[in-house]
Amino acid sequence: MARRFGVESGIIGVTAAAVVSVVVAGALAFSNVGGPSKAEAEGVGQQKAKRAAAPVDSSIAHASDRPGRSLNITIDDGPDPVWTPKVLEVLKRYNVKAVFCMIGPQAEAHPDLVKKVAAAGHKLCDHTVSHNTGMGSKPESYQSQQILDAQKMIEKAAGGTQVEYYRAPGGAFTPYSRKLAADHGMRPLGWNVDSKDFEGGSVSTIESTVRGELSNGPTVLFHDGGGNRSRTVDSLNRLLPWMQSQGYGFGFPKR
Ligand SMILES: [Zn+2]
Repeated sequence: MARRFGVESGIIGVTAAAVVSVVVAGALAFSNVGGPSKAEAEGVGQQKAKRAAAPVDSSIAHASDRPGRSLNITIDDGPDPVWTPKVLEVLKRYNVKAVFCMIGPQAEAHPDLVKKVAAAGHKLCDHTVSHNTGMGSKPESYQSQQILDAQKMIEKAAGGTQVEYYRAPGGAFTPYSRKLAADHGMRPLGWNVDSKDFEGGSVSTIESTVRGELSNGPTVLFHDGGGNRSRTVDSLNRLLPWMQSQGYGFGFPKR
């Protein structure tokens, strides 16, 4: 179980590549501001309709929607009946809103927790059905089932609250899965700072890892599932007030 989730640590290279592609995508998007989109210019009615129904960018988001010195806290691999409530408590203590990337069957098993997360003003993210970090090399039919089934499970558990993001397990995005997610209203979500809270290091190690990597960008990754997350809870208890003391505010990843 721990190993399955731990694979996420091997994403640094992929994340770096994703950052580059996001910068390029951002530049392209910017150049389109005020002008007709490609679909509109070409008069492709069908694409135009799809765009209007689900105007979500398929590039991997890292930026914050909050201006100024901002961070996006993201919490993966739950919900978990023991650890999610404790993480929610800490977030509430420091008045921080986060994104919870949930695994479909766990959301289905704990609808009370999903509703609690949504009711507290946090946002929901699809983290697939099986958390298969190798899904990037699976057939499109598999990727589609993993993403869309989890979205349905999470939205049903939430009582209708929209799932606004999709984060591939271990960052195993593909162009197909990013577009599929975007077409279903979910912005692909990356991360800049990996707390490595699943690796077994001490609370101090997690703290110094996060502090040392904050210059990478605003989106920070923690976990509320996949094992004993007491060190995650303790780290958040120390890091959130420290971040605030450094002048950071908290936003959500841009959609
Ligand atoms: Zn995960």
